[in-house]
Amino acid sequence: MRKLAIMLITVFACSAYAKDKTEEFNYNVEQFADLGILRYSVTGWNDLSLNQKKLIYYLSEAAIDGRDILFDQNNRYNLAIRRTLEAIYTNFKGDKTSKDYKEFVVYLKRVWFSNGIHHHYGEEKFLPGFSQDFFSRAVRSLPKSLIQTRKDQSTDAFLKEIIPVMFDPALYLKKVNQDSSVDVIVNSANNYYGEGVTQKEVEDFYSAMKDSTDLRPVAFGLNSRLVKKNGKLTELVYKINGLYSPAIERIVFNLKQAAKYAENEQQKKVIDLLIDFYKTGSLKKYDEYSIQWVKDTNSTVDFVNGFTESYGDPLGIKASWESLVNFKDPNATALTQTVSENARWFEEHSPVDERFKKKEVKGITAKVITAAILGGDCYPATPIGINLPNSNWIRKDFGSKSVTITNITEAYEKAAAGSGFNQEFVYGDYEKDLMAKYSSQTDNLHTDLHECLGHASGQLLPGVDQDALKVYGSTIEEARADLFGLYYIADIKMLELGLLDNPEAYKAEYYKYMMNGLLTQLARIEPGKDIEEAHMRNRALIANWVLENGKDEKVVELIRQNGKTYVMINDYDKTRVLIGKLLAEIQRIKSEGDFEGAQNLVEKYAVKVNIDIHREILERYAKLNIAPYKGFVNPYYKIEKDASGNIKDILPCYTESYTEQMLRYSKEHSHLPTYND
Ligand code: ZN
Repeated sequence: MRKLAIMLITVFACSAYAKDKTEEFNYNVEQFADLGILRYSVTGWNDLSLNQKKLIYYLSEAAIDGRDILFDQNNRYNLAIRRTLEAIYTNFKGDKTSKDYKEFVVYLKRVWFSNGIHHHYGEEKFLPGFSQDFFSRAVRSLPKSLIQTRKDQSTDAFLKEIIPVMFDPALYLKKVNQDSSVDVIVNSANNYYGEGVTQKEVEDFYSAMKDSTDLRPVAFGLNSRLVKKNGKLTELVYKINGLYSPAIERIVFNLKQAAKYAENEQQKKVIDLLIDFYKTGSLKKYDEYSIQWVKDTNSTVDFVNGFTESYGDPLGIKASWESLVNFKDPNATALTQTVSENARWFEEHSPVDERFKKKEVKGITAKVITAAILGGDCYPATPIGINLPNSNWIRKDFGSKSVTITNITEAYEKAAAGSGFNQEFVYGDYEKDLMAKYSSQTDNLHTDLHECLGHASGQLLPGVDQDALKVYGSTIEEARADLFGLYYIADIKMLELGLLDNPEAYKAEYYKYMMNGLLTQLARIEPGKDIEEAHMRNRALIANWVLENGKDEKVVELIRQNGKTYVMINDYDKTRVLIGKLLAEIQRIKSEGDFEGAQNLVEKYAVKVNIDIHREILERYAKLNIAPYKGFVNPYYKIEKDASGNIKDILPCYTESYTEQMLRYSKEHSHLPTYND
């Protein structure tokens, strides 16, 4: 039934009516293991020109062409395993109802999701739920040409090599090992360093390259594998005619196509510099490219394509390949601009003591974007915001681009709407109605207020050390930004500026915030544990403080009904007054560097968990069967040609299933040999 529903919708979306029909769009694709697969809608596509669509099309091809690189970076056996599993999947003639086969399909889907055999988030190796015997038989029944043997290797020898990689829990245990008591390079299963290379050797190798007098250093080691050859360390650089050349050649081919449709000279320069970088592997070129990329602020279409984030290397030197192609969401960007332009008014009218206010306040403008394709380390699991480049001196001297990705956030929200979450945890019809009507609008607005104003507001008193609050610093900073947003989202100014259209709307944010801080965020804490993460602590701090300080007047209450605990806000006006009071106090603590004040608030309100409520929330949450981790299938872009073969239009289509997409990418965008060592 569900499959049919998806088909109907997507056939519609692929037709000439490919409009932004979000209400008919099916955001949930499928769920397996601990993963939920969603789909995002490329909202605003029809407002783009044909040239912009072509530009995005070629950039999106380039975004998928690097997929194999990431698989190989994550572990040297990932491509062999993925290709073997795909061959079994497409050639399987046995019993598809058996437990082994079903477990096999789940394992394959997990390998696709993680771009390898390690969990994308936890980094630990996940084990197959099918037997080694099932696997061996399936491999042996494949045509010889599909078995991923090395040169002159027998099938037996191949199985002997590959089976422990998949099945032995002790081998390649963790992709990234951060345990400081062991050699983090030797004990990490990633493929950034060759066999036998030690942590000490890596550290010595790269510190010898550093020149402390260079104020503009390149990111040494970013785009290479460090290996030992005849006992000597040497870098295999990712570039054309270097490591990963076949994939990089395809990326460059598509970047060249894209360059033809660049929106302006600056954007063309950016693409050309990136091509130069891929040709030469020169990190100086990479910095030149990054600087020009930061300066390209006028284009509608934008992209990330390259060796970018270094979370996959425990030493943070090597970068994984990723790509994201996007275009500006003009309406949402205008909203953040409105917020930012009025930064001074907000600062002047805040309930904070005059001494702690900034005299010259400049809001931060974040660009709001629509994702058109996710690739490499942004796919299928993807961030909802990005701030690049990572080079510190480029950020300082040239700035950075901060983006939030609205259509991804929207997909998360819409997918969650059908999960039963609000039905379970929101108290009554009045509150449910508020949330349904306003919460997606107020959520985005609160994020803007938090990012563009909250963090940019306030000042330290002269002589106060910015690290004075030590371990409590980030919780207090996040609380300050959240409170600033909460205080103003209820202000009549929101309606005057056209940021909200109903004076009741803010109540949705208040209810959601209190419910999250007091109850539902506990679902992410393991039984018996305290709250650790700074954002979660800040939410607990604010919610518990308001609950406690409004107790006498019952401003906010926790009530029990049918054995379940709910949040009840009895007086929204007084809730805002309390929020203003706490904002003033938190800003005082920050401005004065009052360590004890910070410690008292955080330890009293933000760390400890009520054991009974925690247990109850975990039980209620478990019943909803919500996947803890999410990822996305991309749209595919369909080219329409006129009678003489010219491109007439390009349409995003939403018909592909997760499996279809992964198999297509492996067929059309798989350019590397199975073994790259
Ligand atoms: Zn923040």
